[in-house]
Amino acid sequence: MELLDVITELSHEFGTAEYVRGGGGNTSVKTDSTLWVKPSGTTLADLKPSDFVALDRSKLGALYRAEPPADAAEREAMVKELMAQAVLPSGSGRPSVEAPLHDSLSARYVVHTHPALVNGMTCGKEGKAACRRCFPQSLWLDYVDPGYTLCMAVRKAVADYKADFGREPALIFLKNHGVFVAADEADEIRKLYIGLMTTLQRHYAGRSISCKLPVGPAPDATEVAAAREMIRQAFEDPTVRVAASGPFELPQGPISPDHLVYAKSFYLTEKPTVEAVATFREKHGYLPQVVAFGPMALGVGPTPKKAELALELATDGAIVKQLAEAFGGIDYMTDAAREFIENWEVESYRSGQIK
Ligand SMILES: [Zn+2]
Repeated sequence: MELLDVITELSHEFGTAEYVRGGGGNTSVKTDSTLWVKPSGTTLADLKPSDFVALDRSKLGALYRAEPPADAAEREAMVKELMAQAVLPSGSGRPSVEAPLHDSLSARYVVHTHPALVNGMTCGKEGKAACRRCFPQSLWLDYVDPGYTLCMAVRKAVADYKADFGREPALIFLKNHGVFVAADEADEIRKLYIGLMTTLQRHYAGRSISCKLPVGPAPDATEVAAAREMIRQAFEDPTVRVAASGPFELPQGPISPDHLVYAKSFYLTEKPTVEAVATFREKHGYLPQVVAFGPMALGVGPTPKKAELALELATDGAIVKQLAEAFGGIDYMTDAAREFIENWEVESYRSGQIK
């Protein structure tokens, strides 16, 4: 089978809701000279072999040697420029922002996902210590801003790991983010994921933590329509769309970059009156994308798809919070980490790819 067919198959297998939400996660395959990576913001489950963006690996090398400007915006502009120079004329769209990280691992296939089961651990206060016990061969990285900074941190950590173990890690856990799985054979990727998910399932079961989120009964259509009208008024936007579910216990802070990109860090947890929405906007600088009160939780967005995604990420965040109880309780992202994502052009590009 051709390399691109294999990575497409893997992208579909690990593009289900168990592993990623929205345009989250990314996959790649490489030869010595070329890296093919998922375009930014596209969904793994829909990828075709011709979608992958090809990058010249020798040109990506310039990125690791470059002297990065201290200013975050200038640094990201430099990275974007050097990455664009490495893009070969095939595929479409912008390469995933994590392309250099994929390039930095020697293994042929890399499948990066954000499973709730994994993030229960990566977002847990005792996740790091538990990870050492549950996955002694793995590499753990404390939270680093995604993109260039993360790539450089991973390069260093992988080099240190290699000096200790004589090989590169197959599993890399990123705090408040997800996991990278790397192997030369597709079946090895599958085996690693099965081992990973089984170990975590056992860990949760051993602590009587359910992997299912308790959700109250779905609100009736009249209640949802009334809430939608209230939101349209408060937002001063008659076209805003909502997606509804029964109530559940929401997280109270930012969980991972993807939760921020598709649902923002904070939710409005009261009736969306004009005053409540105005106060929320004043405090956070944006309109809520998740509203929960009384009998319902709502995703809010300019299109049905975006409203659904906001609700989906809030639900996923709630599961992560529940699972993190098995790892000492949830550790939310810091303000600095959150603000980096909120101001990052790359991420607004990514959320903009969902129509
Ligand atoms: Zn990720």
